[in-house]
Amino acid sequence: MRIILIVCFTAIFVFNTATAQTTFEAVDQFWSLVDKVKSNQTPTSEDWIKLFNTPGYRLYISENGVDSLSLELFKTNLVKACSNAAKAENRIENNRWLGQLERIIRLKSELDKHVRWLKSISYLDSMKVAAYKYLPERIKKSNYQNPTIYFLVFDYDGSANVKGIFMDLLLSYDLDRHKIGAFCGHELHHYILSHYQKDKKLPEIAANDKGVHWAIQVIATEGIANLVDKKYVLSSKSDYQDKEWYLATLAKGPKIITDINKNIEALAESRNEQLTKRGYWQQLLMGSGHFPGYYMAQIIEDSGLRAELVKQVDNPFHFFYLYNKAIKKSKAEAPLFSKKAISFIKELEKNYKIKG
Ligand SMILES: [Zn+2]
Repeated sequence: MRIILIVCFTAIFVFNTATAQTTFEAVDQFWSLVDKVKSNQTPTSEDWIKLFNTPGYRLYISENGVDSLSLELFKTNLVKACSNAAKAENRIENNRWLGQLERIIRLKSELDKHVRWLKSISYLDSMKVAAYKYLPERIKKSNYQNPTIYFLVFDYDGSANVKGIFMDLLLSYDLDRHKIGAFCGHELHHYILSHYQKDKKLPEIAANDKGVHWAIQVIATEGIANLVDKKYVLSSKSDYQDKEWYLATLAKGPKIITDINKNIEALAESRNEQLTKRGYWQQLLMGSGHFPGYYMAQIIEDSGLRAELVKQVDNPFHFFYLYNKAIKKSKAEAPLFSKKAISFIKELEKNYKIKG
């Protein structure tokens, strides 16, 4: 679900020389460490180094900026999860991470079966089917290198960056059994779009505009990518563990949009220092644009404007105009962006639209 924004903004792109593949090296090493702990042996620092040096963990840790504190917490929780007391302790501590690791260890034979199944199917092809619905021909036909998909056990999430796509095994178990490759199709959408833009001349963003520019970019990017997977991830059939939380936060979409509109209007009047900061917008968006973005994207798609959305997929500014157009077309009860906010966004588009 997360994308490291360096993918969107950097012109430096590191090609992966591997052909299309899924890799489970990190998962295999995870299980050998679990076996050791379960046979009452304490893992040595070499054991942990061996685990975190598998390509999946190594790249995930460096590209997602996982700090040493999180790694220590993962190690502590994993050792606890191997003990029979983990379930009872988790009930007392309400430790989400411990609960997930305990569930993974309990499901070992099911997860082994799941991995065998993943190895037997063409996972990347399923991801492409999902992602391609929201990409125009010019981008689908661009000469992008197929990514490597690294399966690992860490956080109940997925992410994409220039080095590949990372997928948590438990999340895959909960989602892929119902709709193969949809969640990773979302990550592939980010990956392909970034690849397409890698040779384009990226505009220099003025310091005053960095916060709002970031917000516009992530709202459009995540909003459209969420159309690839969230209808399945959030459906009643899915086993996604964070569904209730996600739906509850999504319900705040209209309120978040009203606040974004107010803030853009304020920026149009003066570049108040607080409004120029990315952290301020991050708080306003309640994350990286997923919730207002998906709310807006659904209104656009439901009003029959999907073709226009796909055509302009690499222009985040257009996403805002299209949202307003969709509300007017469908008479949906949703907050519009004001004339003042839209004309400010048009000004930003004039300065920062990626050419070519
Ligand atoms: Zn995403």
